[in-house]
Amino acid sequence: MDDAEAGAGLVASLAGMTATADVGILGGSGLYHLLDDVEEVVVDTPYGDPSEPPLVGTVAGRRVAFIPRHGKDHRFPPHRVPYRANLWALRALGVRQVLAPSAVGGLWPDLGPGSLVVPDQVVDRTVGRKSTYYDDAAVHVSFADPYCPTGRQAVVDTALRSGWDAIDGGTLVVIPGPRFSSRAESRSYAANGWTIVGMTGLPEAVLARELALCYTTVALVTDLDAGVEEGSGVTHAEVFEVFAREVVRLRALLLDVVAALPDEGELTCPCRGSLDGLRLPFVLP
Ligand SMILES: [Zn+2]
Repeated sequence: MDDAEAGAGLVASLAGMTATADVGILGGSGLYHLLDDVEEVVVDTPYGDPSEPPLVGTVAGRRVAFIPRHGKDHRFPPHRVPYRANLWALRALGVRQVLAPSAVGGLWPDLGPGSLVVPDQVVDRTVGRKSTYYDDAAVHVSFADPYCPTGRQAVVDTALRSGWDAIDGGTLVVIPGPRFSSRAESRSYAANGWTIVGMTGLPEAVLARELALCYTTVALVTDLDAGVEEGSGVTHAEVFEVFAREVVRLRALLLDVVAALPDEGELTCPCRGSLDGLRLPFVLP
């Protein structure tokens, strides 16, 4: 089955479904219990199963679909997350705005654990990930500004209102993982002027753009990266400890951001038009 047929079949199979959502959240570690009163929705995609069947619930009167990108038992390390299936499944449910919380390392001494960064740029250092939907056609989306300006503003404003000094802007460098950076790597990222290091921000951001979705990374710093910290380097346990401590705050923030996002009809950002004039090899879900 080619992608076009798969897409058409998917639309048909969803036609009788009541579970739709307009906001999607791709949760990081520790966010599995983000929504209350959820309905699990099985969505088939041409790219296989998403990390978990999306959980659809209501937040502040809006329908929200949530997928824990690592799976609820954390079985998908960053290089094996089914990124294409996750974004496709969200769009198939009706989602047009995606929030992407994620744990990152800080590249500057003043970016300690608990800092919140809303990056405006990204650098791809990943290797070997399937990072496009357009394997069979020349579809070149613009990626000059990788993140949705409307979503970014909503996160920054909401965080500041809640007393969390979100950093508005910065560059996320996405490394292959699952290992952390060496000190030399980490120092070279900082020397380039980059801000934070993560493992899942790509291809997620570009796949969202390829489906004309609004996409906003909400980066929670869990540790100082190896180049700036004094001890023996980042450990898995440290990252999870900080995330567990801050996740309550992050969860509350995300739910407030959902309420603050504009309704679909009021969106004026360019994300929705990112495929205008391009010939697509399949029908979007
Ligand atoms: Zn947008």
